[in-house]
Amino acid sequence: TQQLVWPMAQFGQVVNMYQRAEASSERIFGLMDEQGRIERDDDADDLEVREGRVEYDRVSFSYDTVDSSDSTDGAETVRDDSGSERIIDDVSFDVDGGETVALVGPTGAGKSTVLKLLLRLYDVDRGTIRIDGQDVRDVSLSSLRQSMGYVGQQSFLFYGTVEENVTYGTFDASREEIIEAAKAAEAHEFIQNLPDGYDTMVGERGVKLSGGQRQRVAIARAVLKDPDILVLDEATSDVDTETEMLIQRSIDDLTENRTTFAIAHRLSTIKDADQILVLEDGSIVERGTHGDLLENDGLYSHLWGVQAGEIDELPQEFIERAQR
Ligand code: ATP
Repeated sequence: TQQLVWPMAQFGQVVNMYQRAEASSERIFGLMDEQGRIERDDDADDLEVREGRVEYDRVSFSYDTVDSSDSTDGAETVRDDSGSERIIDDVSFDVDGGETVALVGPTGAGKSTVLKLLLRLYDVDRGTIRIDGQDVRDVSLSSLRQSMGYVGQQSFLFYGTVEENVTYGTFDASREEIIEAAKAAEAHEFIQNLPDGYDTMVGERGVKLSGGQRQRVAIARAVLKDPDILVLDEATSDVDTETEMLIQRSIDDLTENRTTFAIAHRLSTIKDADQILVLEDGSIVERGTHGDLLENDGLYSHLWGVQAGEIDELPQEFIERAQR
């Protein structure tokens, strides 16, 4: 019976490990604080990332696909065939492998939604999203989510040791690798100074970490995971200037030669991006490098002017547009 039991037990472990990998990959995405809605195909092939090229091809999406014709708001909103408001409206862009693309725009413009579609928290209503030519709907969810890393404001810590929080999503890391990752994230020093170092319990009921420390744990987690595609959600915030510089440096290292999507509110953090997409009302209204966009004299250059202190406030025209 031993012979029979063992293989079964091991198989069970493997399945369990994949399920855990997928669940943890899902949970560490701060923007995935919702259940989502997709049709999954458990027999799908795994995603094969070669260069990390990402294409959005005429993508449209509404959260609300049931009929919402009885809603009373705005007669001018774009509605799709089913009558619901389009949150993403005919968006196309290409990101070459290793490039950084930044998404900027007013609150509610659809920046997070663009990324939720990449992660397949939701499926597009129209159009296609491809990674190295593979439609994200045609590959297994676990492989899709294993290929991505997230560093964000709401970086998720669970109740467990610092070490477990760093290895979350990567199961076979040695202590040495964990320390390497923490060093790259400028987190090693503060971790060493915790009561039990890497064995300190953090998260709910554990030692409280500051926002900056949580972020550095999240960066260490991403360094260790070494994902093909990185998602940054306004990665520096809530910390003093010196820590911010350290964090920015480790993030720069992390994004190098890795396809990166960065959602930014402060434009100074993304001005070196290979391309910047300015979203407004679910559409791309401007695109280009920082230099291109400054010359454009549109929403971006005005937002930049305000944030750089060059102009006092956004011209009325843009405020009205953002409030529509
Ligand atoms: P912010 O800068 O405030 O994070 P954003 O540009 O990331 O905004 P999204 O979070 O993508 O914008 O939201 C775009 C629109 O979709 C908003 O009008 C928002 O209210 C709506 N929305 C977001 N999530 C959901 C959801 N789960 N169900 C219904 N509507 C949603």
